[in-house]
Amino acid sequence: MCGIIGYIGSESAVPVIVAGLRKLEYRGYDSAGIAVYEQDGIKVIKRKGRLAELERHLSEMTIKCSSGIGHTRWATHGEPSDVNSHPHMGSSNKVAVVHNGIIENYKQLKERLEKKGVDFASQTDSEVIAQLCEYYYNGDVLETLIKVSERLEGSYALGIMFHDKPDMFAAVKKDNPLIIGVSEHGNFIASDVPAVLNHTNKVYYLNDKEIAVLYKERVEFFNFDRERLDKSVETVTWSMDSAEKGGYPHFMLKEIMEQPKVLRETIASVKAVDNLDISCYNKIVITACGSAYNAGVAAKYVFESLCRFPSIEVELASEFRYKDAVIDEKTLVILISQSGETADTIAAMREAKSKNAVTLAVVNVVGSAIAKEADYCIYTAAGPEIAVATTKAFSAQLVVLYTIAVAFGTKLGKLSDVESKLLTEEIVALPEKVAAILDDLEYELQKYASTCIGCKSIFFIGRNIDYAIALEGSLKLKEISYIHSEAYAGGELKHGTISLIEDNTLVVAISNSERLYGKIMSNAEQVISRGAKVLLIGSCAGQGGDNAQDSDKLSSIALPECNPLFSPSLSVIALQLFSYYVAANKGLDIDKPRNLAKSVTVE
Ligand code: GLU
Repeated sequence: MCGIIGYIGSESAVPVIVAGLRKLEYRGYDSAGIAVYEQDGIKVIKRKGRLAELERHLSEMTIKCSSGIGHTRWATHGEPSDVNSHPHMGSSNKVAVVHNGIIENYKQLKERLEKKGVDFASQTDSEVIAQLCEYYYNGDVLETLIKVSERLEGSYALGIMFHDKPDMFAAVKKDNPLIIGVSEHGNFIASDVPAVLNHTNKVYYLNDKEIAVLYKERVEFFNFDRERLDKSVETVTWSMDSAEKGGYPHFMLKEIMEQPKVLRETIASVKAVDNLDISCYNKIVITACGSAYNAGVAAKYVFESLCRFPSIEVELASEFRYKDAVIDEKTLVILISQSGETADTIAAMREAKSKNAVTLAVVNVVGSAIAKEADYCIYTAAGPEIAVATTKAFSAQLVVLYTIAVAFGTKLGKLSDVESKLLTEEIVALPEKVAAILDDLEYELQKYASTCIGCKSIFFIGRNIDYAIALEGSLKLKEISYIHSEAYAGGELKHGTISLIEDNTLVVAISNSERLYGKIMSNAEQVISRGAKVLLIGSCAGQGGDNAQDSDKLSSIALPECNPLFSPSLSVIALQLFSYYVAANKGLDIDKPRNLAKSVTVE
């Protein structure tokens, strides 16, 4: 998390950097700051709070400069405060540093520097980088950065300015993302592509332990042996519009609405991994975090049903990385990550590779760490996702996973060609059904959501694959509306959870399987008898609601007919709209929910 931007060129640097920070605010927003050159040296301006605070402060100043670095923070070490904000400077004001990541040995380094008389100003881990740079700086930027990097343990993407080098700044990274944008009028560093899209679509992806030195007219790359690197520039296909709100009040609503297009493009672009022979494996482990994990839970049901594979596990990446998993070269590990930079998922990938498992990544961001390091990679075509709560990337992950499952099932001989064709047609039909839900049900969901803003707690229930999507519905709601919620398998309610049901507790029940409709309706009736209200969502909703004991306690949102295996793609649309409108009715900052940040690049 944290967004880094840096610019050197012929335009006035402050507005360019601030506009870049605005595009990166989704990565962290508890404080923001910039460092620029002025005649008398490096000047740092930083403020606790949203970027708007910094902007207000900057608007009272006149700064003329053509280069600088900026940062929007998601604090890991040291509370959000002016002094803990980035950039950090060495105590003699010779270097300024912006940092994304965590320095794990910062305490030892800090102690050592303090013994040598260095005074620290902040409680952050990041300041140690600035102090260390200053301590080693002898006018040779490369030598200093190599020495400093060799002493840092943990993860970092850094932008660094040196007091006596006004015509350049430098960047280096390990385990956190950094791109270098090159444009007609100047050059950039950034944590993510949208920050530079207004200026250029030409980027270099910096690899771990590579140094970039940026000048107004050129960028030079080096490895830690001081050898010059000849990197190739890539052209980003994301459009500028895709990183703008386009008239919607929030990115989240825009991204929800984009889903038919995203699904169409993802389905059209996803290629089965032809050279991956699934029959060589005896175990599949799907691992991911947050919503991507929920996509994995749904995918497990699909893989089990279509591939009849003997062993399929879903693991949280943050757990998998530390559990000494029983995997080997006969295990296929599927990693799911929107950003491709999720720290826990990267670690899970490396753990899997160290045990010779084969890795297949489902990733949205081209050139990201996971995309580059996994043995196989399939891209989702979701475009830039800006709202912190994922919607379109999650939906794109689902259709990629369905497609893989159909391909594997066919290869394994578990699906006939006819079945495989039929399933593929069902996947191809999903975007139209999603569009129909967005067109026909938005208002109804908005209306229902407006009655839920006072809820203290909301439960989501479902059975089988509906349970997987209940997990995602619950996560979405709590992320953006701050209402406590939990998801349960329908059959689990009576084993404890039902004691939490009170008068007017809302239970959202998901039902897309004819076979299990009666079961989930029994669960609905059990909670209604204890005072709950039920919102039934799914292709089975609306067909027998009047059987419920108390029908004004039951509302239904009927979704289009669909193969239950692919129904998560439809249920999730209704659940996203529901959560969005609950949060919107509460007047919350939907795109930047408190305490959260997108692409969790720290552990
Ligand atoms: N560890 C740094 C801080 O707390 C950077 C955090 C991050 O990259 O999320 O300031």
